[in-house]
Amino acid sequence: MADFEAVIGLEIHVQLATKTKMFCSCELSFGAEPNIHTCPVCLGHPGTLPVSNEQAIRFGIETALALGCEIAPRSIFHRKNYFYPDLSKGYQISQYDIPLGSSGRLGEVRIHRAHLEEDAAKLSHLGESGRIDGSDASLVDFNRGGTPLIEIVTEPDIRDAAIAREWLQLLRSTLRQLGVSDCNMEEGSLRCDANISIRRRGEPELGVKTELKNMNSFRFIERGIEAEIARQIELVEAGGRVDQATMHFDPASGSLTVLRSKEFAHDYRYFPEPDLVPLAPSLELIAEIRAALPELPETRIERYIGELGIPGDAARVLGFDAAAAEFFEAALALGGASPSALSGWVTGELAAALREAGHAGVGDSALSSSGLAALAGLVEAKTINRRTGREILVRLVSQGGDPVAIVEAEGLGSVSDADALSEIVDRALAAQPKAADQVAAGNQKAVGPIVGFVMRETKGRADGPEVTRLIRAKLGLD
Ligand code: ADP
Ligand code: ZN
Ligand code: MG
Repeated sequence: MADFEAVIGLEIHVQLATKTKMFCSCELSFGAEPNIHTCPVCLGHPGTLPVSNEQAIRFGIETALALGCEIAPRSIFHRKNYFYPDLSKGYQISQYDIPLGSSGRLGEVRIHRAHLEEDAAKLSHLGESGRIDGSDASLVDFNRGGTPLIEIVTEPDIRDAAIAREWLQLLRSTLRQLGVSDCNMEEGSLRCDANISIRRRGEPELGVKTELKNMNSFRFIERGIEAEIARQIELVEAGGRVDQATMHFDPASGSLTVLRSKEFAHDYRYFPEPDLVPLAPSLELIAEIRAALPELPETRIERYIGELGIPGDAARVLGFDAAAAEFFEAALALGGASPSALSGWVTGELAAALREAGHAGVGDSALSSSGLAALAGLVEAKTINRRTGREILVRLVSQGGDPVAIVEAEGLGSVSDADALSEIVDRALAAQPKAADQVAAGNQKAVGPIVGFVMRETKGRADGPEVTRLIRAKLGLD
């Protein structure tokens, strides 16, 4: 096993969140009554003329720029010909030899190309339940036909399934923060095919690849790729070879089946679409779009780690969640708490409190950025302990308010007065002689009942680390 490595390249289709379709003015609508958003253009009636959607082109350029791509000064649309019930025109309008964007990079993965095209209609296979005259029946919904898509193709730079999933999550959050798509995998607005091969470690040539089609969750993508890598390695180790094929992964059974082998590969007979003008964005337009790009997850994460010194995990959580990041920055700007302390509150206690209260994000809660800044400051200054801070945070999330006023009004300030605390620790040691002996003998964990006594006496307001320090000092340990 150990001497094989996997090679993975991804092809991702993303539906762009425009109001209307790519080449006609039909409305985009997920979940509408089937076949109501159609017209002669997107149904492919002969003699109709497509017109490119300006917003889709703009989203396409934004996406390509966000992925670090070069923008082609001039590219044309092609007709990709094939026969299938999801395509009543008989061809899909797509880009072919020159894509809108090429040679980009996101994270550690190079982008081969990013091009615009239109989606096909949606087929629902009824299976046994919908048999007509003994054959399986399928339904076609042309509402989806003609939806603007950007297809993103990576170089084969990914080496394992978990990294493929993590990278896709970075891509999704990048596109969401750009606002070009909601990237909802269950609804099909982000769909991913994975190309997979294996080779012996150190081997420079790429192996024969298979393509795993249309997996509709991040978990299935990871599991599907893992299963296909295992299948290929097993095959080669048993003396077989990998044949080029398109595969389907069934998440329920974990099994892989061949959909199509190489002999049935399509020849799409691409030719230039004569009814559309070339895509030739001006340098001014590209510069304007580039200047208006928001700060994206990758850059934000790097800045948080590099400039603010925030731990990597918290930086990634904030990078992926623009609303939380903006809240964090607003609180940080008020001063009073350090970036890492604040990021810890936002990604830790606050995230938990929001989840518990059933809020989708901090925007739904009553907590203000100044409330969080003040609270984090109180804890950092040891005016209150972390546990009290957590309790106040839960209240701020549901009711809002000023933590400084709450602490004062309710006398929640931590007991850090050295004499008072010292006296309580003395009593705790006297009350828990067995535990005290065990701690003195080197058993750290035995400290629990002693700390518990102190917390009871102080109604939970003692500073935990300070209590532990006092106990150890009094037992002559430090
Ligand atoms: P095809 O001609 O079969 O469409 P492409 O060269 O266009 O193949 O690549 C399609 C996708 O497959 C890209 O994401 C690319 O990175 C990936 N890919 C190409 N060759 C391999 C390989 N040997 N192993 C894994 N992925 C590959
Ligand atoms: Zn239409
Ligand atoms: Mg290809």
